[in-house]
Amino acid sequence: MKVVIVGGVAGGATTAARLRRNAEQAEILLFERGGYISYANCGLPYYIGEVIQDRNNLFVVSKETFEQNFHVQVRINSEITEIDRGRKTVTVKEAATGREYKESYDKLVLSPGAEPIKPPIPGINDERIFTLRSVVDTDHIKNFVDTRKPRRVVIVGAGFIGLEMAENLHHRGLQVTIVEMAQQVMNVVDYEIAAEVHQHLKTKHVEFYLNDGVASFEGGDESLTVTLKSGRKIATDLVILSIGVRPDTKLAKAAGLEIGSAGGIKVNPYLQTSDPDIYALGDAIEFPNPITGKPALTFLAGPANKQGRIAADNIAFGNKKTYPGSLATAIAKVFDLTVASTGFAEKSLKAEGLPYQAINFHASSHAGYYPGAKGLSIKLTFHPESGKLYGAQIVGYEGVDKRIDLFATVLRHGGTVQELAEIEHAYAPPYSSAKDPVNIAGFVAENILLGRSRHIQWHELLEKDLPTLFLLDVRTPEEYALGTIEGAVNIPHNQVRNRLSEIPRDRTIIVFCAAGLRAYVAERILLQNGYTDVYNLSGGYKTFQIATQKQSNEDIFEKDFIGKDDRIYQANPETRGSAGGTVNITRLDATGMQCPGPIMKLKGAMEQIPVGERILEIASDPGFARDIKSWCSMTGNKLIGVEEEGGLVRAIIEKGEKPVSPITESGGNATTIVVFSNDMDRALASFVIANGAAASGKEVTLFFTFWGLSIIKKPEKVLASKDFLGRMFGMMLPQGSKKLGLSRMNFAGMGPKLMRYRMKQKQVESLESMIQSALQAGVRFIACQMSMDVMGVTKEELLDGVEVGGVATYLERASKGQVNLFI
Ligand code: FAD
Repeated sequence: MKVVIVGGVAGGATTAARLRRNAEQAEILLFERGGYISYANCGLPYYIGEVIQDRNNLFVVSKETFEQNFHVQVRINSEITEIDRGRKTVTVKEAATGREYKESYDKLVLSPGAEPIKPPIPGINDERIFTLRSVVDTDHIKNFVDTRKPRRVVIVGAGFIGLEMAENLHHRGLQVTIVEMAQQVMNVVDYEIAAEVHQHLKTKHVEFYLNDGVASFEGGDESLTVTLKSGRKIATDLVILSIGVRPDTKLAKAAGLEIGSAGGIKVNPYLQTSDPDIYALGDAIEFPNPITGKPALTFLAGPANKQGRIAADNIAFGNKKTYPGSLATAIAKVFDLTVASTGFAEKSLKAEGLPYQAINFHASSHAGYYPGAKGLSIKLTFHPESGKLYGAQIVGYEGVDKRIDLFATVLRHGGTVQELAEIEHAYAPPYSSAKDPVNIAGFVAENILLGRSRHIQWHELLEKDLPTLFLLDVRTPEEYALGTIEGAVNIPHNQVRNRLSEIPRDRTIIVFCAAGLRAYVAERILLQNGYTDVYNLSGGYKTFQIATQKQSNEDIFEKDFIGKDDRIYQANPETRGSAGGTVNITRLDATGMQCPGPIMKLKGAMEQIPVGERILEIASDPGFARDIKSWCSMTGNKLIGVEEEGGLVRAIIEKGEKPVSPITESGGNATTIVVFSNDMDRALASFVIANGAAASGKEVTLFFTFWGLSIIKKPEKVLASKDFLGRMFGMMLPQGSKKLGLSRMNFAGMGPKLMRYRMKQKQVESLESMIQSALQAGVRFIACQMSMDVMGVTKEELLDGVEVGGVATYLERASKGQVNLFI
């Protein structure tokens, strides 16, 4: 048997090797148009970026080794230009000599891959515009970067390859601008998943334009001008076109083989084309999608390799093996992020008109108490009744790969979300949690199928008439203070049970927390208390916030320029003030501090610098990246940039001219907290909020009443004359903040000790230090005169700086603000 294979990379080389193992006597000829076979296409961007440094590492097997090991005749630089199906011959054209000859076959295998799309845009043939598909393309791009030393690149198209090139050219020190026609990067995933990539690209100082395409290229001596459809002009030194690929079907078409409706070579489940002696595989074919049964194209290495084995087996042993179709399981690294998907995204299901349920949630890569846990955002789609899994998408920093593979495995065998809940995974704290995010996905979906929870997507919420809804934010007051959905009311999830009277029964209630879990707890409380019209905002505030904020990142290189020596100047926004010229930067280290520590520290430092100067603050609290945005917008300071790298958040803030009042239209700038309790945990909560609010520029008043007076008592005993009842009540009040107990699990005084130990371990400020911070930040401490009288507390017993006031003082302060809490 003589087998001719067209294409010597992923699919073709696999077919040849497998065939040799199956059919020792077969004559096998492998034709490759280019100069290399069996190389790592997927590694090409990383070689350009010099992450892969040795070019030889790109070549899995050389022509010579392949010939020796597999006894296959490898003919490189030899293009098959024609197939004569009647005579069962192919025409070969040698690139070097131009010589043409014919070769006969018994079986022919086509694995010619795909070709990059290059639309007829004016100026597209400029020598500084490249596409990336082969080793030759790679050499051209790398040579250009090495010798011409471009400082700017425009990447047209933000699919997987475009983003990999963005990362790698950024790694080579180029200013990277991405132009994408769609409203998001990575079109295979849903918008809110891509939105996380958008925000990450911003932290990496990548410029990008969405909803805009290229109208023309215009070559000049110094630079190339890319004009976008919006009219914007971008000067650049290099362009990478990565707007997609199409199956290379030229040869098949000319030979009269059937081409399918998706544009690929049509094959049967044995991978035979419309001619039984010709098999086809890889990027060039189309194949029914396992979920919809509709023809689909897949441009991935895994399917091409697997198809190569199937085709080789069927050629050697007769048609026995069938290809099940691809779920398009894919993964990509985008700077520090990993993005992965399998099966159907929500938008594809919508386009297919299939009934579906989608959920979003956020989880950790491993147990939160083991250091280094990173966030994962997961989206699942499934059938709303049977629970049959349709697809999954994940974006995160760690552990994305193993989760997507679990989802893909369940999807592959037509599994359901219930099976996700049951998956048994290997667990130890550094790797996962006892309930892995994949299990949690199953739990969340199962709850929906059982009618125990109802999700609403962020985009469905936006389509509703928001004022008619009751938006219930069940996060902590500190989280709420740093940003919420407009109009939302804050009742922390553990207070919902006791504050049902504040939640209307005649309105649709949308409950949300940061990631979904606390909202689910609150949702359950409401449902079991007779509320019926309740929805959980899928993915919580995190998804909502990421998806609804500004996505593109324009004009970020506006102030930068390329010097005559070809270097980028002023690329560092840190030292260039808003008013031009350079500015001083004060460095502030807030690593190890928990919220609101970094914000408090910043506030203090801001007071020390003049308007226009900057602070570079480095924090390890991941929430700081979000908090700092809210804080700046509340206080009128300017956030110059915020980026995350290696688990640290680095923010540059410029001191603003006039602090802006956080509440300008609907209320005053005061926050008032009535501190009634003398539980240590409640006292902590009061001071966390007070300090957070003070740091945001609010005028904060703490009104200590009844048992709350204990918190502001001096630690030492003070002699004061009291009557009998006064002495009795005085004995019941703990002597200052250090003597407070916990509201729960006090364990005869062990609880507070444990709490203090834990706070120290987690580098949370002590209660005493928070009290001092509050006083220094100008928070007013008012002791309720009436309570003092009743409880037998005298002014001398209270901390210095505490004022004594009555209810009128409290009401006067409370009337000036919107935030008024009772703790
Ligand atoms: P190819 O591997 O492209 O091989 C086709 C070969 O056929 C080519 O070398 C071509 O020169 C040759 N040929 C075509 N016509 C003829 C002819 N008439 N005569 C002789 N020879 C011919 N996939 C992933 O799953 N993960 C990734 O991370 C990933 N990254 C990628 C990064 C880049 C830069 C690129 C370009 C692709 C990437 N892919 C990735 C896609 C993956 O490489 C392809 O899906 C896979 O290689 C397809 O295999 P194939 O055999 O169909 O085509």
